[in-house]
Amino acid sequence: YKLPEIKNEPVLSYAPGSIERETLKKTLSELNKGGLDIPMIIDGKEIRTNNTKEIRPPHNHQNLLGYYHQGDKSHVQMAIDAALKAKPSWEAMNWESRAAIFLKAADLIAGPYRSQFNAVTMIGQSKNAYQSEIDAVCELIDFYRYNVKNMHEIYNMQPNSSPGIWNRMVWRPLEGFIFALTPFNFTSIAGNLGAAPALMGNTVVWKPSKTAVYSAHLIMKVLKEAGLPDGVINLIYVGGKEATDVIFDHREFAGLHFTGSTEVFNSMWKSIASNITKYKSYPRIVGETGGKDYIFAEKTANAKQVATAITRGAFEYQGQKCSAASRAYIPINLWDDVKKFVADDLSKIKTGVVEDFSNFVNAVIDEESFDKLAKVIEDAKSSPDTEIVCGGNYDKSTGYFIYPTVIQAKRPDYITMKEELFGPIITVYVYDPEEIDAVLDLLDKSTDYALTGAIFSSDRAQIEKLTAKLTHTAGNFYINDKPTGAVVDQQPFGGSRGSGTNDKAGSVLNLLRWVSPQCIKETF
Ligand code: GLU
Repeated sequence: YKLPEIKNEPVLSYAPGSIERETLKKTLSELNKGGLDIPMIIDGKEIRTNNTKEIRPPHNHQNLLGYYHQGDKSHVQMAIDAALKAKPSWEAMNWESRAAIFLKAADLIAGPYRSQFNAVTMIGQSKNAYQSEIDAVCELIDFYRYNVKNMHEIYNMQPNSSPGIWNRMVWRPLEGFIFALTPFNFTSIAGNLGAAPALMGNTVVWKPSKTAVYSAHLIMKVLKEAGLPDGVINLIYVGGKEATDVIFDHREFAGLHFTGSTEVFNSMWKSIASNITKYKSYPRIVGETGGKDYIFAEKTANAKQVATAITRGAFEYQGQKCSAASRAYIPINLWDDVKKFVADDLSKIKTGVVEDFSNFVNAVIDEESFDKLAKVIEDAKSSPDTEIVCGGNYDKSTGYFIYPTVIQAKRPDYITMKEELFGPIITVYVYDPEEIDAVLDLLDKSTDYALTGAIFSSDRAQIEKLTAKLTHTAGNFYINDKPTGAVVDQQPFGGSRGSGTNDKAGSVLNLLRWVSPQCIKETF
């Protein structure tokens, strides 16, 4: 079979006066009227409970948009039962039908649902229109389409045969059900973590972040419209412990597909390990976790390029990307220029609500995150080891706004050079180029993470040296570019060390984790 041609979905610009901008504005004002009543979806049925929770936009927390229905352990059990019930017929369905469902879902998002995907992510997760377009529209579409292409490649991976013997590989799904636990920060990741195993013939229990139920609901709607049978993906809103207590205790638990914090991943891994003899098969554990991603400028780097990488890498989507630049090592000869360019950029950047398209920075996801980040800023203000170079302001009176902040650390081991913050704060350490080797060593050893990193240099020999020396510090490594914004099929994404299992989202490597191949030898 030849599949339809697959390319990355083009990103729309939402330029002033464009049709897409006008449509999006209309969709936003419609959705902002609220009245939300978001049920769980188990076995294709809408499930409502007496335990409702409020939904409010992080940038405008006075606006009550409505409620979602919170479940309990009984709903986790229902979701598992539904997934297991749906499994035989889904697994038996031919792969072309499974592929067609996800290709159709991608077309629906690219067409009639485009502005809704963009708008729910803007409102629900406080992401600006451009960042939402890249995430909730283009990357989600790319995941669905490239997964199909990659599935096709996997199914075509077949062993050799010899005269009188036909060997073949059957790319079976795993036995049991998959648990997808998804983050708030990317609608695309949330939409993919259940979809990728499902495409390979698995069925799924999906628990999204409680701060991203609005977009999760829309994803289910579109998958249903595209023909996804009931029970293949079951969406539940329950507490983390309620979910894992039931799921990790179940004999048919077959795999975990996760994006979130290292701490949560570690604790789930331990629970799975402690239950290991209960399971029918060894569960697949796939996780993309935290990062303390770096920018390292060498003395020949272009200061303007470095500054742009700081502004975009650290502050796009309020730094709430696992890949966000959150520590920078800048040589003393470049620091004045880099500081000036960043200050220039930040003087033009506006922070505020998503409905005003000129705001580059919006709110952080919730009050808990806001309070934590505000404390980091206060600590830096009062520490003798740091200086606030830009920003340092915050305000939660109407929304959870943390203004882009650059901290200069006099000590390279200052806490914000080591710990993930998940907010619009970057810490810079200015170094003496004579001490480059010691600084590289420090960069390597000061965190347990290895997700993304970016080096800047115009000296080929230095680029080669840095690339070799830093090879294990990042699963996605950028030369003269910011460390964020990986594109499906172009920069397969994932990190090692404490940043995850590095199964490269959207690639063949990821899909291979959701199959358990059987080799058949037939003799004639
Ligand atoms: N893939 C995203 C990027 O390259 C980051 C994903 C994440 O934050 O989990 O920026």
